[in-house]
Amino acid sequence: MIKLLFFCVIVYCGYKILQTALKTVGFGEAGQAQMNGNHDNTANVMIQDPVCGVYFARKDGVSHRIGGKELCFCSEECRDQYMLAHE
Ligand SMILES: [Zn+2]
Repeated sequence: MIKLLFFCVIVYCGYKILQTALKTVGFGEAGQAQMNGNHDNTANVMIQDPVCGVYFARKDGVSHRIGGKELCFCSEECRDQYMLAHE
């Protein structure tokens, strides 16, 4: 009986380790963004809003092209504020 319990613990630990390994390899959300860089590897890059100074993930922001330079803002409000100040 003790041996059976011990066996179960080993199987459970093995399962946990396997799960962690799979996540690290790229099946987890964070790993996927870093490993599968073929689509948009800058999507999760943290950038700073030039208007309010807040940090946000590039994919959550609002991008706008001004004079050949692409700028990213945390929200459309900040983008509009920037536009008003620079045009
Ligand atoms: Zn902002």
